[in-house]
Amino acid sequence: YPSISRFLVVFAVSGGGLVAYSEGNIQTGAKIDELPEAGSEKKRVVILGTGWAGTSFLKNLKNPSYDIQVISPRNYFAFTPLLPNVTVGTVEARSVVEPIRNIIKKKNLNVIYWEAECYRIDAKTKKVYCRSSEKDKEEFVVDYDYLVIAMGARVNTFNTPGVEENCHYLKEVEDAQKIRRTVIDCFEKACLPTLSDDERKRVLQFVVVGGGPTGVEFAAELHDFVSEDLVKLFDKRIATFAEENFHRDGIDLRTGEMVVKVSDKEISTKVIKTGETSTIPYGMAVWSTGIATRPVVMDFMKQIGQANRRVLATDEWLRVEGTNSIYALGDCATINQRKVMEDISAIFQKADKDSSGTLTVKEFQEALDDICDRYPQMKNLPATAQVAAQQGSYLADCFNRMEQCTKNPEGPLRFREFGRHRFRPFRYKHLGQFAPLGGEQTAAQLPGDWVSIGHSSQWLWYSVYASKQVSWHTRSLVVSDWMRCFIFGRDSSQI
Ligand code: FAD
Repeated sequence: YPSISRFLVVFAVSGGGLVAYSEGNIQTGAKIDELPEAGSEKKRVVILGTGWAGTSFLKNLKNPSYDIQVISPRNYFAFTPLLPNVTVGTVEARSVVEPIRNIIKKKNLNVIYWEAECYRIDAKTKKVYCRSSEKDKEEFVVDYDYLVIAMGARVNTFNTPGVEENCHYLKEVEDAQKIRRTVIDCFEKACLPTLSDDERKRVLQFVVVGGGPTGVEFAAELHDFVSEDLVKLFDKRIATFAEENFHRDGIDLRTGEMVVKVSDKEISTKVIKTGETSTIPYGMAVWSTGIATRPVVMDFMKQIGQANRRVLATDEWLRVEGTNSIYALGDCATINQRKVMEDISAIFQKADKDSSGTLTVKEFQEALDDICDRYPQMKNLPATAQVAAQQGSYLADCFNRMEQCTKNPEGPLRFREFGRHRFRPFRYKHLGQFAPLGGEQTAAQLPGDWVSIGHSSQWLWYSVYASKQVSWHTRSLVVSDWMRCFIFGRDSSQI
């Protein structure tokens, strides 16, 4: 269960990054599906999802020897780190999205986009079953040789009663737009003459459930919106109520409690240690407690013998365990670290058995290097845009080199599955993280463990996020939105 926090603390939000990595794998073995046959005809690559992972894969794919089909219910890429900005109108929704067709147009490859959602993956027959996003929900089937699953994750409600009906999420662009409208609605409602003082207080009480980076950043943005813009526009009494609730020092943080139920006006909580219950009246609640696996991915996991896992497991080359030609990246998958440990232990067992001399000193040394290389990967990678983008770029590089590596299979010596490996495994490179704190201040942690907090980091945040935009079009929109907001303040209309 999530703990609850109403106005919050300092946390880290990592900046997204696109960094090129090299090499990948193709392996054989007893898997549910076959590797595509070697042949001259173009291999069909199907990409599920147009988020950070899918878009990064597509953008970095350069090899013209594939027929590529992109399937996603969203015909755009969304720059999620700026969604908290969208919730209060610092940046417009349109400025953080890039149509996927614009990205496709710039590629000199054979790419088709289908606006649809995949509802079933059949690994044995190598088919994905899709449903169009239109009202009539037309169904169709797509064949693939290679499948790239980059479907992200869904919001985790922990099955808490009332969350779906009463809380806002902050996952998609539409969520951010709805939050913006609701905040302004709450202020307009609080002005109505029919409301009692208690009701007015309730309506102006905003609750964030979950103290993760997204919730914290949203809380900071909301604080700025209310204290810098809204209080100036409303009746003095409303401003006083709002200021009471939003005064920095008055930010009420409640940890060690879990939400047990949400009704349309109240959130019921329970103290974990004592079991003591209480209620919090609210005007708007944002549920931001983490992510869970999508049903279509769960269904697929059952099919490939991963039913006992919570997240789809891949090897270090991002290939789904138990399959030959399916890759998974981003929030929908995790590298199976237990398997990595087993591989390491297998290396030692082999070294032990081969003391007769089959394993040379040089090979053993390389195995040790391999282990040292793997250690930073031992903990699960965070579900961030930075990881998803790097994985997309890494896998694209593998696909770019696939032909070349089929012709010249001898690659770096790797001991996984007791043999040489054609490619190096995926390695995550942490490029630092930011925590916008509101009030034009940001905490920044950069490589080399350099930490800075204050206004200068805020300028660094502006420059990094502007530079990470996927096109000059969105970059110019985002920068002009920031300037507009700086000069004129945020807009309080519901549109
Ligand atoms: P997504 O980006 O979620 O993309 C999933 C894609 O799959 C979407 O296009 C979706 O439409 C599509 N899809 C869904 N279902 C189906 C289906 N059935 N069939 C086909 N396609 C489907 N990370 C950072 O590093 N730094 C930050 O500052 C940061 N801030 C964030 C702020 C917010 C508000 C949020 C919500 C996230 C933030 N993150 C941040 C996390 C980051 O956004 C995610 O880790 C990242 O989006 C994961 O990328 P992905 O490609 O796996 O999934």
